[in-house]
Amino acid sequence: MVSHEPQRITAGAQGTLQVPDTPVIPFIEGDGIGPDIWAATQGVLDAAIRSAYGDQRRITWLEVLAGEKAYRETGEWLPEGTLQAIKDHVAAIKGPLTTPVGKGIRSVNVALRQRLDLYACVRPIQYISGVPSPMRHPERVNMVVFRENTEDVYAGIEWEAQSREAEAVIDFLKDRLGVEVARDSAIGIKPMSRPATRRLVARAVQYALDHNFPSVTLVHKGNIMKYTEGAFMKWGYEVACEMFGDFVLIESERGLEREDKVPQGKVVIKDRIADMMFQQVLLRPEAYHVIATPNLNGDYLSDALAAQVGGLGMAPGANIGDHCAVFEATHGSAPKYAGQDKANPISLILSGVMMLEYLGWSEAALAIKQAVQKSISEGLVTHDLARQMPGTRELRCSEFAQAVIERLT
Ligand code: NAD
Repeated sequence: MVSHEPQRITAGAQGTLQVPDTPVIPFIEGDGIGPDIWAATQGVLDAAIRSAYGDQRRITWLEVLAGEKAYRETGEWLPEGTLQAIKDHVAAIKGPLTTPVGKGIRSVNVALRQRLDLYACVRPIQYISGVPSPMRHPERVNMVVFRENTEDVYAGIEWEAQSREAEAVIDFLKDRLGVEVARDSAIGIKPMSRPATRRLVARAVQYALDHNFPSVTLVHKGNIMKYTEGAFMKWGYEVACEMFGDFVLIESERGLEREDKVPQGKVVIKDRIADMMFQQVLLRPEAYHVIATPNLNGDYLSDALAAQVGGLGMAPGANIGDHCAVFEATHGSAPKYAGQDKANPISLILSGVMMLEYLGWSEAALAIKQAVQKSISEGLVTHDLARQMPGTRELRCSEFAQAVIERLT
């Protein structure tokens, strides 16, 4: 007899999950287009679970607040109760949250990742056939970006020009370290540590081995920032060799150039300078698979890669730590489309697919991927794609979700 009581997911040692058939999963609706794309995503996830498992499995959704809605209702941007609910329930999903530029609150998204120690931002970039792309061969793009989520210039340690703090740091640099910085400079700090780098790279290498990807590329700017980005590369190679020993091959030691030389069950570790990596992913995307990179590089690179396979509306993501995970679209709250039922929900729907895979509900996940592909193949797409795909039918966000639901098998 199946229990239909909502139950919590629990995380055991080494991140193993105990997933009941009726888990409670917190969601954050999000700002801007968040409510539209979340409603679409929830409908698709529920329908796919019903279609794959009948009455056997069901998610009970628990709304938790963050961002503008939280501020309106509680006066806080990121209430403690939200963080606690995500910790307690292990997996959560969120819509995008708006962050004002250059003023006011720091990013709620960044705070969420840091407070929950969701250190790996995992962004798969894979082409869906039929989607318009600026690439001649977008089908050659199949990468998964592992972006370090807790450090780098995203640590939020910065001071305004001419502030007391900025001037104190400038004085310290001059008096104690003999370094001259212009008096009226703003100051930002870029911390990068060995433990944070090692756990991120270890997760990336494990992922490559688990999913039979032939390479992991450490993307850094170590030629200029030697002790931060350069150390990321050094610590990355170090942990790959220490933890994965015989399973890894180092490109520079073996003269390995092409992925087809990689023996089954092994993964090549290589590194690339960040600026040239942007060229590489355009010119030789087939040579890159899993990418492990610091926070800022990962932010830029994952948006650029998303554009290669059809834009931000198509790019899913997950923020994963050792104790919990929050799934979210790569894009932001696209305020210009807010409340118009016009945005593309695919990115959040595919983030939901990643969540189902994380839960081990692979049948429902696969059904959604196939139904999204089918909708696109039949020319049923939202505004962002329709305007680039002559002969297709432009659907509202909610209509697209319905089209996907009707194509679930
Ligand atoms: P954005 O990703 O919100 O939008 C940029 C452009 O991409 C949009 O104008 C739109 O043309 C297109 N776009 C994005 N998502 C789309 C979708 N689902 N369907 C169709 N088109 C889509 O980036 P932005 O304008 O720089 O940021 C807006 C806000 O979102 C900012 O406050 C920013 O800080 C925030 N943001 C949040 C997250 C997050 O929640 N994780 C991520 C990035 C940006």
